[in-house]
Amino acid sequence: MQHKIPLSESLIDIDLKTSFSSIDIDVVAEFEKSLESFYEDQKSVLAVNSGTSAIHLALILSGVEKGDEVLCQSLTYVATINPIIYQNANPIFIDSENDTWNMCPIQLEYAIIDRILKGKKPKAIVFVHLYGMPAKIDEIVAISRKYNIILIEDAAEALGAVYKGKKCGAFGDFGILSFNNNKIVSTLGGGALICNTRSRKRKSFFYATRAKEKERHYEHKLIGYNYRMNSLGALIGITQLKKLDAYLKKRRAINGFYKESFNNFSEVLFLKEPSVDFVSNHWLSCVLLDLKEVTVIKCKLMDVLKENNIEVRFLWKPMHLQPIFKEYPYYGGKVAENLFQKGLCLPSGSTIIKNDLNRISECIKKFL
Ligand SMILES: *Cc1c(COP(=O)(O)O)cnc(C)c1O
Repeated sequence: MQHKIPLSESLIDIDLKTSFSSIDIDVVAEFEKSLESFYEDQKSVLAVNSGTSAIHLALILSGVEKGDEVLCQSLTYVATINPIIYQNANPIFIDSENDTWNMCPIQLEYAIIDRILKGKKPKAIVFVHLYGMPAKIDEIVAISRKYNIILIEDAAEALGAVYKGKKCGAFGDFGILSFNNNKIVSTLGGGALICNTRSRKRKSFFYATRAKEKERHYEHKLIGYNYRMNSLGALIGITQLKKLDAYLKKRRAINGFYKESFNNFSEVLFLKEPSVDFVSNHWLSCVLLDLKEVTVIKCKLMDVLKENNIEVRFLWKPMHLQPIFKEYPYYGGKVAENLFQKGLCLPSGSTIIKNDLNRISECIKKFL
Protein backbone atom coordinates (compact mmCIF):
# COMPACT_ATOMS: atom_id res chain seq x y z
CA MET A 1 0.00 0.00 0.00
CA GLN A 2 1.30 3.44 -0.89
CA HIS A 3 1.34 6.10 1.80
CA LYS A 4 -1.84 7.99 2.57
CA ILE A 5 -2.50 11.32 0.86
CA PRO A 6 -4.78 13.28 3.19
CA LEU A 7 -7.21 15.92 1.96
CA SER A 8 -5.78 18.95 3.71
CA GLU A 9 -3.08 18.35 6.21
CA SER A 10 -1.29 21.42 7.50
CA LEU A 11 2.36 21.41 8.29
CA ILE A 12 3.51 22.08 11.86
CA ASP A 13 7.24 22.43 12.06
CA ILE A 14 8.22 24.40 15.11
CA ASP A 15 11.09 23.90 17.44
CA LEU A 16 9.28 23.75 20.77
CA LYS A 17 12.45 23.76 22.84
CA THR A 18 13.59 27.18 21.71
CA SER A 19 10.11 28.58 21.30
CA PHE A 20 9.08 27.70 24.83
CA SER A 21 11.35 30.25 26.44
CA SER A 22 8.85 32.85 25.27
CA ILE A 23 6.04 31.33 27.33
CA ASP A 24 6.56 33.89 30.11
CA ILE A 25 5.40 36.72 27.86
CA ASP A 26 1.74 36.74 26.97
CA VAL A 27 1.99 34.70 23.79
CA VAL A 28 -1.74 34.90 23.10
CA ALA A 29 -1.48 38.69 22.99
CA GLU A 30 1.62 38.33 20.80
CA PHE A 31 -0.28 36.14 18.37
CA GLU A 32 -3.10 38.68 18.32
CA LYS A 33 -0.55 41.38 17.52
CA SER A 34 0.79 39.36 14.59
CA LEU A 35 -2.75 38.93 13.30
CA GLU A 36 -3.43 42.64 13.73
CA SER A 37 -0.31 43.53 11.78
CA PHE A 38 -1.38 41.00 9.14
CA TYR A 39 -4.47 43.21 8.79
CA GLU A 40 -2.24 46.32 8.58
CA ASP A 41 -3.25 47.35 12.13
CA GLN A 42 -6.71 48.30 10.92
CA LYS A 43 -8.32 45.66 13.15
CA SER A 44 -8.48 44.44 16.73
CA VAL A 45 -8.18 40.68 16.92
CA LEU A 46 -9.19 38.27 19.69
CA ALA A 47 -7.62 34.80 19.60
CA VAL A 48 -10.05 32.07 20.66
CA ASN A 49 -10.18 28.29 20.85
CA SER A 50 -12.05 27.70 17.57
CA GLY A 51 -13.61 29.38 14.57
CA THR A 52 -16.98 28.25 15.87
CA SER A 53 -16.39 30.18 19.13
CA ALA A 54 -15.44 33.25 17.09
CA ILE A 55 -18.72 33.11 15.14
CA HIS A 56 -20.63 32.63 18.38
CA LEU A 57 -18.96 35.71 19.91
CA ALA A 58 -19.68 37.73 16.75
CA LEU A 59 -23.37 36.84 17.01
CA ILE A 60 -23.49 37.73 20.73
CA LEU A 61 -21.83 41.09 20.04
CA SER A 62 -24.26 41.68 17.17
CA GLY A 63 -27.09 41.34 19.67
CA VAL A 64 -28.50 38.19 18.08
CA GLU A 65 -30.98 36.71 20.55
CA LYS A 66 -33.72 34.15 20.84
CA GLY A 67 -36.11 34.26 17.90
CA ASP A 68 -33.94 36.59 15.79
CA GLU A 69 -33.36 35.75 12.15
CA VAL A 70 -29.85 35.41 10.71
CA LEU A 71 -29.31 35.20 6.95
CA CYS A 72 -26.60 32.73 6.09
CA GLN A 73 -24.95 30.94 3.22
CA SER A 74 -26.40 27.46 2.76
CA LEU A 75 -23.37 25.94 1.04
CA THR A 76 -20.92 25.87 3.93
CA TYR A 77 -19.50 23.82 6.75
CA VAL A 78 -21.95 23.30 9.61
CA ALA A 79 -19.73 25.36 11.94
CA THR A 80 -21.04 28.52 10.23
CA ILE A 81 -24.59 27.72 11.30
CA ASN A 82 -24.35 26.00 14.71
CA PRO A 83 -23.66 29.19 16.72
CA ILE A 84 -26.89 30.71 15.34
CA ILE A 85 -28.70 27.80 16.98
CA TYR A 86 -26.64 28.21 20.19
CA GLN A 87 -28.24 31.69 20.41
CA ASN A 88 -31.71 30.18 19.85
CA ALA A 89 -31.94 32.30 16.72
CA ASN A 90 -33.24 31.11 13.34
CA PRO A 91 -31.01 30.64 10.30
CA ILE A 92 -32.48 31.76 6.96
CA PHE A 93 -30.56 29.95 4.24
CA ILE A 94 -29.41 31.63 1.03
CA ASP A 95 -28.35 29.90 -2.19
CA SER A 96 -24.95 30.33 -3.87
CA GLU A 97 -24.01 31.87 -7.21
CA ASN A 98 -22.00 29.94 -9.80
CA ASP A 99 -18.99 32.28 -10.12
CA THR A 100 -17.54 31.93 -6.62
CA TRP A 101 -19.92 29.29 -5.14
CA ASN A 102 -20.63 31.73 -2.31
CA MET A 103 -23.71 33.63 -1.14
CA CYS A 104 -25.79 34.93 -4.04
CA PRO A 105 -26.31 38.69 -3.55
CA ILE A 106 -29.53 38.63 -5.58
CA GLN A 107 -31.11 35.95 -3.43
CA LEU A 108 -29.79 37.72 -0.32
CA GLU A 109 -31.58 40.97 -1.15
CA TYR A 110 -34.72 39.13 -2.17
CA ALA A 111 -34.70 37.29 1.18
CA ILE A 112 -34.24 40.53 3.16
CA ILE A 113 -37.17 42.18 1.39
CA ASP A 114 -39.34 39.12 1.93
CA ARG A 115 -38.44 38.73 5.62
CA ILE A 116 -39.22 42.40 6.23
CA LEU A 117 -42.57 41.97 4.42
CA LYS A 118 -43.27 38.97 6.63
CA GLY A 119 -42.85 41.25 9.63
CA LYS A 120 -39.30 40.71 10.85
CA LYS A 121 -36.05 42.36 9.83
CA PRO A 122 -33.08 39.96 9.99
CA LYS A 123 -30.47 40.80 12.65
CA ALA A 124 -27.32 39.69 10.84
CA ILE A 125 -25.85 38.23 7.66
CA VAL A 126 -23.19 35.51 7.77
CA PHE A 127 -21.38 34.93 4.50
CA VAL A 128 -18.46 32.66 3.68
CA HIS A 129 -15.42 32.54 1.37
CA LEU A 130 -15.73 28.87 0.60
CA TYR A 131 -12.57 26.88 -0.11
CA GLY A 132 -10.68 30.18 0.09
CA MET A 133 -12.49 31.86 -2.82
CA PRO A 134 -13.61 35.41 -2.00
CA ALA A 135 -17.36 35.93 -2.29
CA LYS A 136 -18.93 38.81 -4.27
CA ILE A 137 -17.98 41.06 -1.40
CA ASP A 138 -18.83 44.52 -2.80
CA GLU A 139 -22.38 43.45 -3.59
CA ILE A 140 -22.91 41.79 -0.20
CA VAL A 141 -21.42 44.72 1.75
CA ALA A 142 -23.62 47.16 -0.21
CA ILE A 143 -26.74 45.18 0.66
CA SER A 144 -25.82 45.00 4.35
CA ARG A 145 -25.34 48.81 4.37
CA LYS A 146 -28.51 49.51 2.38
CA TYR A 147 -30.66 47.58 4.86
CA ASN A 148 -28.47 48.38 7.87
CA ILE A 149 -27.91 44.73 8.84
CA ILE A 150 -24.75 43.59 10.64
CA LEU A 151 -22.35 41.64 8.43
CA ILE A 152 -20.32 38.70 9.75
CA GLU A 153 -17.60 37.43 7.43
CA ASP A 154 -16.72 33.76 7.87
CA ALA A 155 -13.15 33.74 6.53
CA ALA A 156 -12.35 30.43 8.27
CA GLU A 157 -11.17 28.91 5.00
CA ALA A 158 -9.81 32.11 3.49
CA LEU A 159 -6.76 33.26 5.45
CA GLY A 160 -4.54 34.96 2.89
CA ALA A 161 -7.25 35.31 0.24
CA VAL A 162 -7.57 38.83 -1.18
CA TYR A 163 -10.44 40.79 -2.75
CA LYS A 164 -9.70 44.03 -4.65
CA GLY A 165 -6.37 44.32 -2.87
CA LYS A 166 -7.78 43.87 0.65
CA LYS A 167 -7.45 40.75 2.79
CA CYS A 168 -10.45 38.55 3.44
CA GLY A 169 -11.65 38.75 7.03
CA ALA A 170 -11.43 42.56 6.98
CA PHE A 171 -14.69 43.35 5.18
CA GLY A 172 -17.43 42.57 7.70
CA ASP A 173 -18.53 44.28 10.90
CA PHE A 174 -16.93 41.14 12.31
CA GLY A 175 -14.64 38.63 10.62
CA ILE A 176 -13.66 35.20 11.82
CA LEU A 177 -10.75 32.88 11.12
CA SER A 178 -10.19 29.22 11.96
CA PHE A 179 -6.88 27.62 12.86
CA ASN A 180 -8.29 24.12 12.93
CA ASN A 181 -5.81 21.44 11.96
CA ASN A 182 -6.94 21.15 8.34
CA LYS A 183 -6.83 24.89 7.61
CA ILE A 184 -3.83 26.62 5.99
CA VAL A 185 -2.53 27.89 9.32
CA SER A 186 -3.13 25.56 12.25
CA THR A 187 -2.80 26.08 15.98
CA LEU A 188 -4.03 22.52 16.52
CA GLY A 189 -7.49 23.94 17.09
CA GLY A 190 -8.14 27.65 17.35
CA GLY A 191 -9.74 30.68 15.80
CA ALA A 192 -9.87 34.45 15.79
CA LEU A 193 -12.50 37.14 15.97
CA ILE A 194 -11.63 40.19 13.87
CA CYS A 195 -13.18 43.36 15.28
CA ASN A 196 -13.35 46.91 13.90
CA THR A 197 -12.80 48.58 17.26
CA ARG A 198 -10.82 48.09 20.47
CA SER A 199 -14.01 48.28 22.50
CA ARG A 200 -15.59 45.42 20.56
CA LYS A 201 -12.51 43.35 21.20
CA ARG A 202 -12.73 44.16 24.94
CA LYS A 203 -16.37 43.13 24.96
CA SER A 204 -15.66 39.87 23.15
CA PHE A 205 -12.77 39.17 25.56
CA PHE A 206 -15.26 39.60 28.43
CA TYR A 207 -17.61 36.98 26.96
CA ALA A 208 -14.74 34.66 26.02
CA THR A 209 -13.46 34.63 29.61
CA ARG A 210 -16.65 33.73 31.48
CA ALA A 211 -18.06 37.26 31.70
CA LYS A 212 -16.27 38.19 34.90
CA GLU A 213 -17.22 41.69 36.07
CA LYS A 214 -14.62 44.24 37.17
CA GLU A 215 -14.96 43.58 40.91
CA ARG A 216 -12.06 42.12 42.83
CA HIS A 217 -14.04 38.96 43.57
CA TYR A 218 -15.69 36.87 40.87
CA GLU A 219 -18.88 38.77 40.14
CA HIS A 220 -21.17 37.58 37.33
CA LYS A 221 -24.15 39.35 35.82
CA LEU A 222 -24.13 37.64 32.44
CA ILE A 223 -23.39 34.18 31.05
CA GLY A 224 -19.92 33.90 29.58
CA TYR A 225 -17.87 31.22 27.84
CA ASN A 226 -14.50 29.52 28.07
CA TYR A 227 -13.37 30.45 24.57
CA ARG A 228 -9.85 31.86 24.95
CA MET A 229 -6.98 30.43 22.93
CA ASN A 230 -4.32 28.63 24.97
CA SER A 231 -0.66 29.69 25.05
CA LEU A 232 0.72 26.67 23.25
CA GLY A 233 -1.73 27.17 20.40
CA ALA A 234 -0.76 30.84 20.18
CA LEU A 235 2.91 29.91 20.13
CA ILE A 236 2.34 27.55 17.23
CA GLY A 237 0.22 30.23 15.53
CA ILE A 238 2.97 32.85 15.71
CA THR A 239 5.44 30.55 13.97
CA GLN A 240 2.90 29.28 11.48
CA LEU A 241 1.69 32.73 10.46
CA LYS A 242 5.25 33.66 9.50
CA LYS A 243 5.17 30.82 7.00
CA LEU A 244 1.82 31.76 5.51
CA ASP A 245 3.32 33.06 2.26
CA ALA A 246 5.08 29.76 1.67
CA TYR A 247 1.91 27.81 2.43
CA LEU A 248 -0.10 30.00 0.04
CA LYS A 249 2.46 29.51 -2.69
CA LYS A 250 2.26 25.77 -2.19
CA ARG A 251 -1.56 25.66 -2.39
CA ARG A 252 -1.51 27.82 -5.50
CA ALA A 253 1.04 25.50 -7.09
CA ILE A 254 -1.11 22.46 -6.27
CA ASN A 255 -4.11 24.16 -7.86
CA GLY A 256 -2.03 25.06 -10.90
CA PHE A 257 -0.86 21.49 -11.24
CA TYR A 258 -4.41 20.12 -11.22
CA LYS A 259 -5.64 22.70 -13.74
CA GLU A 260 -2.80 21.94 -16.10
CA SER A 261 -3.12 18.23 -15.58
CA PHE A 262 -6.84 18.11 -16.46
CA ASN A 263 -6.58 20.67 -19.21
CA ASN A 264 -7.76 18.20 -21.84
CA PHE A 265 -10.59 16.79 -19.79
CA SER A 266 -13.64 18.85 -20.65
CA GLU A 267 -15.71 17.03 -18.01
CA VAL A 268 -13.48 18.32 -15.20
CA LEU A 269 -14.36 21.94 -14.38
CA PHE A 270 -12.46 23.99 -11.83
CA LEU A 271 -13.56 26.58 -9.30
CA LYS A 272 -11.74 29.54 -10.86
CA GLU A 273 -11.12 33.11 -9.80
CA PRO A 274 -13.75 35.07 -11.79
CA SER A 275 -11.49 38.11 -12.35
CA VAL A 276 -8.29 39.75 -11.11
CA ASP A 277 -10.33 41.21 -8.20
CA PHE A 278 -10.51 37.74 -6.67
CA VAL A 279 -7.39 36.07 -5.28
CA SER A 280 -8.15 32.69 -3.71
CA ASN A 281 -5.86 31.12 -1.14
CA HIS A 282 -6.69 27.76 -2.79
CA TRP A 283 -7.27 26.15 0.59
CA LEU A 284 -8.80 23.23 -1.28
CA SER A 285 -8.67 22.64 -5.00
CA CYS A 286 -12.23 21.83 -6.07
CA VAL A 287 -13.65 20.48 -9.30
CA LEU A 288 -17.08 19.83 -10.76
CA LEU A 289 -17.53 16.63 -12.72
CA ASP A 290 -19.74 17.43 -15.67
CA LEU A 291 -21.06 13.92 -16.20
CA LYS A 292 -24.41 12.13 -16.43
CA GLU A 293 -25.24 10.00 -13.37
CA VAL A 294 -22.61 12.08 -11.66
CA THR A 295 -23.40 10.94 -8.11
CA VAL A 296 -22.93 7.26 -8.97
CA ILE A 297 -19.72 7.92 -10.89
CA LYS A 298 -18.39 10.16 -8.14
CA CYS A 299 -18.94 7.43 -5.56
CA LYS A 300 -17.13 4.91 -7.75
CA LEU A 301 -14.24 7.33 -8.26
CA MET A 302 -14.04 7.92 -4.52
CA ASP A 303 -13.88 4.15 -3.93
CA VAL A 304 -11.05 3.80 -6.42
CA LEU A 305 -9.15 6.68 -4.81
CA LYS A 306 -9.71 5.20 -1.39
CA GLU A 307 -8.26 1.88 -2.55
CA ASN A 308 -5.22 3.90 -3.57
CA ASN A 309 -5.08 5.58 -0.17
CA ILE A 310 -6.02 9.01 -1.53
CA GLU A 311 -8.48 11.11 0.45
CA VAL A 312 -11.00 13.20 -1.47
CA ARG A 313 -14.24 14.73 -0.22
CA PHE A 314 -17.64 15.83 -1.47
CA LEU A 315 -18.33 19.54 -1.33
CA TRP A 316 -20.20 20.60 1.80
CA LYS A 317 -23.77 19.41 1.67
CA PRO A 318 -25.97 22.53 1.65
CA MET A 319 -27.40 23.32 5.05
CA HIS A 320 -30.97 23.73 3.80
CA LEU A 321 -30.82 20.04 2.79
CA GLN A 322 -29.59 18.87 6.20
CA PRO A 323 -32.16 16.99 8.28
CA ILE A 324 -31.32 19.02 11.39
CA PHE A 325 -32.11 22.34 9.63
CA LYS A 326 -35.05 21.31 7.45
CA GLU A 327 -37.58 23.49 9.27
CA TYR A 328 -35.81 26.77 8.41
CA PRO A 329 -36.60 28.95 5.38
CA TYR A 330 -34.48 28.84 2.22
CA TYR A 331 -34.18 31.42 -0.55
CA GLY A 332 -32.78 30.27 -3.84
CA GLY A 333 -32.83 27.68 -6.54
CA LYS A 334 -30.63 24.69 -7.14
CA VAL A 335 -27.18 26.25 -7.47
CA ALA A 336 -25.78 24.98 -4.16
CA GLU A 337 -27.49 21.62 -4.61
CA ASN A 338 -26.06 21.25 -8.10
CA LEU A 339 -22.55 22.13 -6.89
CA PHE A 340 -22.91 19.55 -4.13
CA GLN A 341 -23.93 16.89 -6.62
CA LYS A 342 -21.09 17.51 -9.05
CA GLY A 343 -18.32 18.74 -6.79
CA LEU A 344 -15.23 17.08 -5.41
CA CYS A 345 -12.42 18.43 -3.22
CA LEU A 346 -8.99 17.15 -4.22
CA PRO A 347 -6.04 16.64 -1.85
CA SER A 348 -4.50 20.08 -1.29
CA GLY A 349 -2.54 19.94 1.95
CA SER A 350 0.78 21.56 2.72
CA THR A 351 2.49 18.18 3.09
CA ILE A 352 1.74 16.99 -0.45
CA ILE A 353 4.72 16.41 -2.71
CA LYS A 354 5.03 16.34 -6.50
CA ASN A 355 4.92 12.54 -6.63
CA ASP A 356 1.65 12.55 -4.72
CA LEU A 357 0.13 14.94 -7.24
CA ASN A 358 1.18 12.72 -10.11
CA ARG A 359 -0.26 9.70 -8.34
CA ILE A 360 -3.59 11.48 -7.75
CA SER A 361 -3.98 12.80 -11.28
CA GLU A 362 -2.93 9.49 -12.89
CA CYS A 363 -5.45 7.66 -10.74
CA ILE A 364 -8.32 10.02 -11.66
CA LYS A 365 -7.41 10.11 -15.36
CA LYS A 366 -7.28 6.35 -15.55
CA PHE A 367 -10.71 6.18 -14.00
CA LEU A 368 -12.21 8.79 -16.32
C1 LIG B 1 -13.39 25.43 9.66
C2 LIG B 1 -14.56 26.29 9.47
C3 LIG B 1 -15.16 27.02 10.55
C4 LIG B 1 -14.68 26.98 11.96
O1 LIG B 1 -14.34 25.74 12.39
P1 LIG B 1 -13.58 25.41 13.75
O2 LIG B 1 -13.32 23.97 13.58
O3 LIG B 1 -14.57 25.69 14.85
O4 LIG B 1 -12.35 26.22 13.91
C5 LIG B 1 -16.21 27.87 10.26
N1 LIG B 1 -16.68 28.00 9.01
C6 LIG B 1 -16.14 27.34 7.97
C7 LIG B 1 -16.69 27.59 6.62
C8 LIG B 1 -15.09 26.45 8.17
O5 LIG B 1 -14.57 25.78 7.13
